[in-house]
Amino acid sequence: MSDSTTIRALVLRETGVRPELEEVELLPPEAGEVRIRVVACGLCRSDLANAEGTLRTPLPVVLGHEAAGVVVETGEGVEQPAVGDRVVVSLSPACGQCPMCEDDKPHLCFQSVPGSIGCTMLDGSTRVRSGEEVVHQLCAIGGFAAHVGGKPPPCIPRAPGRPP
Ligand SMILES: [Zn+2]
Ligand SMILES: [Zn+2]
Repeated sequence: MSDSTTIRALVLRETGVRPELEEVELLPPEAGEVRIRVVACGLCRSDLANAEGTLRTPLPVVLGHEAAGVVVETGEGVEQPAVGDRVVVSLSPACGQCPMCEDDKPHLCFQSVPGSIGCTMLDGSTRVRSGEEVVHQLCAIGGFAAHVGGKPPPCIPRAPGRPP
């Protein structure tokens, strides 16, 4: 397993206060997870609503949930996606075990809502740290960052040659 990676990320610490770019630590991928170098991330109205406080999110949190990039590291047991694959990251984490996941519909996973709203992986943990402090990842992603880490099933591979 690799060491943590120091990344730059847009961290919201208080609603109504402009989020700032911070250097934080991204933990290495655990079994079944991947690390993705973010190439682009859309700015969505819900990112702004979380920053304003209209929507509620645990704080601090790395904003951004519409990320695309390149897989740079895989955890134990990951066969797909592979290092070098270009992927779009789904904002719905998937458990891989519920009836929807078993029916190859991870975007409808029964477990995805708590992860999305709690801004954590499905086990309640996150992969971002600021010193000892736990930093949440919006929709279990936190896409306004140099890299993101988490479960790979929602990663949707892109055809080679297409951006990003
Ligand atoms: Zn959105
Ligand atoms: Zn599921």
